[in-house]
Amino acid sequence: MSEILQDPDIIWIICHNATVALPFTGDVCFPTPAALVSILGSQHQSLKLQIWQLGVYKGCLCYGVELVEYQVPHGYKFFSLRSLISVLSEFEFNLLGRAIQLIRWDKEHQFCSQCAQPLLYMPGETAKRCKPCALVQYPKLAPCVLVLVYQSDRILLAHGVRHPKGLYSALAGFIEPGETVEQAVHREVQEEVGVQLNALQYVASQAWPFPHALMLGFLAAYESGSLLPEPQEITDAQWFQIDNLPNIPPQGVLARTLIDTYRSKLGR
Ligand SMILES: [Zn+2]
Repeated sequence: MSEILQDPDIIWIICHNATVALPFTGDVCFPTPAALVSILGSQHQSLKLQIWQLGVYKGCLCYGVELVEYQVPHGYKFFSLRSLISVLSEFEFNLLGRAIQLIRWDKEHQFCSQCAQPLLYMPGETAKRCKPCALVQYPKLAPCVLVLVYQSDRILLAHGVRHPKGLYSALAGFIEPGETVEQAVHREVQEEVGVQLNALQYVASQAWPFPHALMLGFLAAYESGSLLPEPQEITDAQWFQIDNLPNIPPQGVLARTLIDTYRSKLGR
C-alpha cells in the first residue's frame, strides 16, 4: 500500500461521502501522492481503504479512494460532483463519477443479499463474490431515458416535482425490466404528459452518478394528444418557442445538449 501511495505517476481521486477533494479554487488538479500521504498522515497504512482503478488521466493511472478518517489537505476542499458539472470536462466528470459510484456500491454491498455472508473482492474484476453461495455482485447502473419532444419551432419542457424552482427540462424516466429503450420513451412521455410521439432519434448518452443512472437522450416529434401532466411527477409542462425558453439546465447536462441540438437543427 505505501509504495502505491507514493508513486508520482499515479493520480488520486480522493472521495469522502460522495464528495471529491480538489484545490479550494475548484481548479481541476488532483492531489499529488505527497498530498495524499499528508492527508492520511502516519496512520495511512492502518486505515481501511479500498482502492479502485478508474482509468488513465493525462497519461497517468488513476485510482479512487474513500477516506474514512481524514484531514483536509492544505489548499483543498471536498466538492459535490453536482457543483462541478460546469467546471469539469466530460472525461473528468465521468472519471470522478466512476470513483464516487464504485465507492458507494462497495459500501452498500458488504454482505451477500442471498445468504448474508461477507462479500469478497474478485481480483481483476470490478465485482464482488460470495464464497458460500457463489452469488456475484456487479456495480449497479440504472438506465434512464431523456426525451425532448418538439413540434415545429416549439419544444415541450416540464417542471418536475424534484426540479429546482423555476427550472424546466426534458422528460425523463427509468427503463423498466423487460422493456426496450424505445418502449420506455413512448411509455414515459405518455405517462408523464399524455402525448404520443413519432420519429424517435437517439442523440447522446451521459453517465449520471446521482446515484447510478445512465441517461439515454432522444429527440422525438409530437404526434398527438393534449398536454395532461401527471401530478405525482410533473408540476407543470408547456410548449415553449425555441427562441423564448424558460430557465433550462446548464451546459454539460444532457437535457441541455438535446435542447441545443434541436436549436441547431432549426438553424437558430
Ligand atoms: Zn451468499
